[in-house]
Amino acid sequence: MAYKTIYPYTNEVLKEFDNHTDADLEAALAAGHALYKKWRAEGGLEERKGQLHKVAELLRRDVDKYAEVMTKDMGKLFTEAKGEVELCAAIADYFADKAEEFLKPRELEAVHGEGYYIKQAVGVLFMVEPWNFPFYQIMRVFAPNFMIGNPTVLKHASICPASAQAFEELVKEAGAPAGSFKNLFLTYGQVSKAIADPRIQGVALTGSERGGASIAAEAGANLKKSALELGGNDAFLILEDADFELLKDTIFFARLYNAGQVCTSSKRFIVVGEENYRKFVDMVVETFKTAKWGDPMKAETTLAPLSSAAAKEEVLGQIKLAVDNGARVAYGNQEIDHPGNFVMPTVLTDISKDNPIYNTEIFGPVASIYKVDTEEEAIALANDSSYGLGGTVFSSDPERVARVAAQIETGMTFVNSGWASHPELPFGGIKNSGYGRELSHLGFDAFVNEHLVFTPKG
Ligand code: NAP
Repeated sequence: MAYKTIYPYTNEVLKEFDNHTDADLEAALAAGHALYKKWRAEGGLEERKGQLHKVAELLRRDVDKYAEVMTKDMGKLFTEAKGEVELCAAIADYFADKAEEFLKPRELEAVHGEGYYIKQAVGVLFMVEPWNFPFYQIMRVFAPNFMIGNPTVLKHASICPASAQAFEELVKEAGAPAGSFKNLFLTYGQVSKAIADPRIQGVALTGSERGGASIAAEAGANLKKSALELGGNDAFLILEDADFELLKDTIFFARLYNAGQVCTSSKRFIVVGEENYRKFVDMVVETFKTAKWGDPMKAETTLAPLSSAAAKEEVLGQIKLAVDNGARVAYGNQEIDHPGNFVMPTVLTDISKDNPIYNTEIFGPVASIYKVDTEEEAIALANDSSYGLGGTVFSSDPERVARVAAQIETGMTFVNSGWASHPELPFGGIKNSGYGRELSHLGFDAFVNEHLVFTPKG
């Protein structure tokens, strides 16, 4: 069975899940499509608002239950998992409250006649999601589309099946009608079949470039709209006038949250000036030394195991590749003697442009630090990447921050802070980090039919 909960702290198989059959897929598509038609004919926005608020209420009521499911699936710290559940509740409340306003018809300039457009559902959507935020990734697509009236079908990562199942049970418990949201344990072949089905009207994927390219190709071949949230190699610029006290409080979260397995983790730290560079390397080393790896269920643990044995091997392989090609290890890269998938926080410096790791996302607790002489060089280095997801600028001068941020080729810039995600902030990237946005009013519109109604003059 491909779908298994293997606890990353012990590598024990806790539960295996049977794959769904083609008949299950057919039933999910039929139920979703019938519900789309019903919602289209009858409306139902008020009912859905109540049901989505109920989802939020249940998440808050059973926060520990849902958090533990995620910790057991992919190893994240229980404390961080609880934060994820709270964020999911906030996203559900946000879209429940905002949908009516977001769905209002929009008047158009009356040049050639009277025109407006209405915003309508398009049909059943298919989502493919990754394991690093097992609930949040689903919620980003489910909540807005539930309010719009687009039912959703999920294929979650094979290593977090219990989370996928728990999300489905949550939606059901909140009273959402059958067909609103369906989790299916599918093969890649069945995913292709679903995407080709005429009842599916859009595809959202969060994951790797490889997964994204493959799903986008299937969507394109079947003329389905797609939205892709892919990886990142986010730059964190430390300009000469950066506040080092603030930096000190930012580094741990920016790189080690979720054991570094965050698409918008700060992965490349770029420091302007020799003196600041040395000071910063020491600061990161001292910060990484404080990480306490251990039982993810315990509150005192601050570094979780990676999500799978394969993920650990991949990150260790990437560190080796970097070092074999001339990178220096300023801290870390030692084995942690434990059956769990722990990787010691590691600081790499002296990565040259021809090092194969230079343009590679490291999805684990590894910081790469670069030294440059000027702000212009910092911007050029930040932009010398095939990715463009997020990034950070640290400077005490707000005008300088705005100028530098505008020059970075990325989808999101965070100022004097690490990455963040809130319901009202659009989330997404450019270049190989994907296209489209999730969350906020922009994410709400991702799968909306902007339907023109026009009466010409004369
Ligand atoms: P992945 O291998 O692409 O997997 C993501 C999802 O896609 C999983 O459900 C996976 O299923 C599925 N999948 C992959 N290839 C598929 C195919 N050909 N057909 C059908 N389904 C397919 O990604 P990952 O390595 O697990 O996730 C980490 C990546 O996600 C990182 O690069 C990270 O930066 C990125 N990410 C991006 C964002 C964002 O918002 N931009 C957020 C979080 C993570 P299986 O598990 O069954 O293989």
